Amino acid sequence: MVQLANPALLRDGGLIDGAWRQARSGETVAVTNPADGSVVGPVPRFSAQEVEQAIEAAEAAFGPWSQRAARERSAILKRWFELIVANADDLAAIMTAEQGKPLAEAKGEIVYAASFIEWFAEEAKRVYGDVIPAPQTDKRLIVLKQPVGICAAITPWNFPAAMITRKAAPALAAGCVMIVKPAEQTPLTALAIGQLAIEAGLPAGVLQIVTGEARTIGGVLTASDKVRKLSFTGSTEVGRILMAQCAPTIKRVSLELGGNAPFIVFDDADIEAAVVGAIASKYRNAGQTCVCANRLYVQSGIYDAFARRLAEEVAKLPVGAGTEKGVLIGPLIDDDAIAKVERHVEDAVSKGAHIVLGGKRHPLGGTFYEPTVITGVTPDMVVAREETFGPVAPLFRFETEEEVIAMANDTEFGLAAYFYTENARRTWRVAEALEYGMVGHNTGLISNEVAPFGGVKQSGIGREGSKYGIEEYLEIKYLCSAVR
Ligand code: ADP
Repeated sequence: MVQLANPALLRDGGLIDGAWRQARSGETVAVTNPADGSVVGPVPRFSAQEVEQAIEAAEAAFGPWSQRAARERSAILKRWFELIVANADDLAAIMTAEQGKPLAEAKGEIVYAASFIEWFAEEAKRVYGDVIPAPQTDKRLIVLKQPVGICAAITPWNFPAAMITRKAAPALAAGCVMIVKPAEQTPLTALAIGQLAIEAGLPAGVLQIVTGEARTIGGVLTASDKVRKLSFTGSTEVGRILMAQCAPTIKRVSLELGGNAPFIVFDDADIEAAVVGAIASKYRNAGQTCVCANRLYVQSGIYDAFARRLAEEVAKLPVGAGTEKGVLIGPLIDDDAIAKVERHVEDAVSKGAHIVLGGKRHPLGGTFYEPTVITGVTPDMVVAREETFGPVAPLFRFETEEEVIAMANDTEFGLAAYFYTENARRTWRVAEALEYGMVGHNTGLISNEVAPFGGVKQSGIGREGSKYGIEEYLEIKYLCSAVR
């Protein structure tokens, strides 16, 4: 059991129309702790009909919510933000129990998640339209921004809090209402945040959280013509399916999908800074983020020195249950995740790569994997093409800038990319040549609430966070008024 200062945060119901509900069938889904396999709690397995009821409640809530003054919506969001920050320790404990990330990292995510609510509470008051100079003197042309309507969000397990607030905050700020389907591995963090939304005074039906079987819930939400928008974060594979399901009703979609982030270290880089950045980017959340460095390209002149320094530092990362003090690498989310990491490492080794550090399951057992560094990695290996989503740093060697740009862009993905150089002219050349939605120069950490997060190519559509994020939840209405 998770020990909480505020036990009301651990919910076993879904949030529909302002109340905590169980499935009428009585069916539940168990949430387990990836560190030891224990059951953290049950959540309801809602039926398609129960999801339809949530859509009806959303429909009833949308009118009044969208018609409130922006400053009223803003005030409620601000309270929600404050409550999340005040309950950060409990929320982090719930997150670590169901997701596995170290407590300090979980708390960091809670603060990050809350920052989107604070930001969009402020942006709610700044949804401006336009007045367009008319081509005729007897017309007045006005652009109004109006909320899209009922929105659905489907979110992943790697950021159980932030992926929800990054969608719900701009939606609610804009005057939309939202139904969230959290990942089946991590619904308890979502429900706890829902409890705080109630305490903040969010009216019934404005934010609802439905748990259960992904296909059933996703099917109802995408098929409904009342739901006007889907915001999804997850794999490209599932994003493609959901986008197709949204096609018959021409729903708006925002998609944050897979990445295959290159992390490029040029000969003229500050090696120590690059090692710190590589660790921050690669090993955060045990390598389970879509912006984690997946392919490390290191120029010949410093390849050996970088590999040695990286391995020395990675060897110091403590592995263990997220609740243990000082741990930096927790367990992977489940058996499939560790099987994928093993497959990637075995494939690389079978094709000639060399394991400098780690390379196998951790003695702790379960889904713990040793932080790993591999050298001699080449483009024919699976790690070059697929996201490993684990604590494995594969080091590719390159000779020229032209060659590394070609290799970095040789993927269907385009989410985040990183590069280290001290050369100003190269900085601009490389930043502009990388086909990615986000680029980190001399840093491995780029996400925050004020910057636009999102990808190009098959990494997604749309941007979250920043002043652009709220536009995803607004429609443009053009009003043409004849004055005589
Ligand atoms: P991950 O690899 O991060 O688990 P997924 O894309 O499989 O990524 O899952 C992300 C979210 O999408 C989760 O909430 C999951 O339940 C949901 N999901 C997976 N498959 C479907 C589907 N067919 N329909 C609707 N939601 C789905």
